[in-house]
Amino acid sequence: MIETVSPERLKQIRLARGLSLDEVARRMDDLVTKQALSKYEIGATQPRPRTLARLAEALRVSPELLREPSPFTIDVAFRHNSVGISAAERKGMENRLHLALEQRVRLQETLHPGVQIGLPIEAFSVETPEDIEAAAEAARDWMRLGREPVANVVETLEAHHVHVFQWEAPVGFEGLSAIVRDNAKRPIGAGIVLRRDGCGERHRFTAAHEIGHLFLKVDPNLDVEKTCHRFAGAFLIPAQTLREEVGETRTRLLLPELLLLKSRFGISVQALLMRLLESSIISRDYTRQCFETIEQHGWKTNEPDPLPVERALRFVQSIRRAEAEKLITRQEAAEMLDERDEITPTNAMLTLMTQAGRRATESARAELRAKGIVPVIWRGGQISEEGE
Ligand SMILES: [Zn+2]
Repeated sequence: MIETVSPERLKQIRLARGLSLDEVARRMDDLVTKQALSKYEIGATQPRPRTLARLAEALRVSPELLREPSPFTIDVAFRHNSVGISAAERKGMENRLHLALEQRVRLQETLHPGVQIGLPIEAFSVETPEDIEAAAEAARDWMRLGREPVANVVETLEAHHVHVFQWEAPVGFEGLSAIVRDNAKRPIGAGIVLRRDGCGERHRFTAAHEIGHLFLKVDPNLDVEKTCHRFAGAFLIPAQTLREEVGETRTRLLLPELLLLKSRFGISVQALLMRLLESSIISRDYTRQCFETIEQHGWKTNEPDPLPVERALRFVQSIRRAEAEKLITRQEAAEMLDERDEITPTNAMLTLMTQAGRRATESARAELRAKGIVPVIWRGGQISEEGE
């Protein structure tokens, strides 16, 4: 039997695309049955070359990608309180993250060959609240952030090989993180998935919370989620900085002051109040009063002065650089950018997009031909001239 696909890879990509076997068969115009697809996935049979080409097309990948299993292992940590996520959605996200991270790591290795990453995975042991504060400062030191506000959390993480994805996600999903390891089990990268919607302060906090999952080694007697929450707050505004800003103790803070701190440090008023309490600047009673006020005004979900959402532009820059230096093909660049902005389209949307794409391509080609230029097409992993 000629090996044309890796069964493991095939299944991974299908799950990453959120497709059932039925849907794949349909996308291939029922060229093969669901049962045949299932046999490819368990390695009982191998598709013929023509079938493979159609299969790759249906999964929106190059046939080459289907040949080999992933060279990396990826450990995913789901946020425990991600309620309302089905097992299928979770599997889909995990596989999608695996694929997306693989691309990022390949890009990272292409642009910075031989660079030792040295991610501090589970490097900071935490047993007490003081340890959490110290860990947040250590994480800041590792990122060379000093004690000032973090201008852009997403960019900072991207610069340190923690890749950030912002995806459409089911209600209830907060975030997840994963570690990429090479064959020798060395961590060579990490990834964080955030919701695509929501405000900047929420994204920043969730990203910092997920950093906690990656960098902390939490004592089994502690609540991991609470620990990562405190870590997130401390990462966004260290205790010492907070004291310098507002004073050692306070009996009262007015909303305008809190909103100014919110915009400068990129942290929600609610997380800020928790920081003030944790740093013993305000009392538990006063904190409770403040949260009651927040509740009364309906600010629990919609705080005043929401911050803009951060985007990972460094990644786009890396892709453009790799493309310009011909380290990756235009197709690969497009695939990676697609992954960044991808939303999961419905079948109806896909049909519309394909039609619109075809129309746009056809008119662009006609324009080129009118100018006497032969348009090129992408086929079978190569650029060839039209009509060849
Ligand atoms: Zn968590």
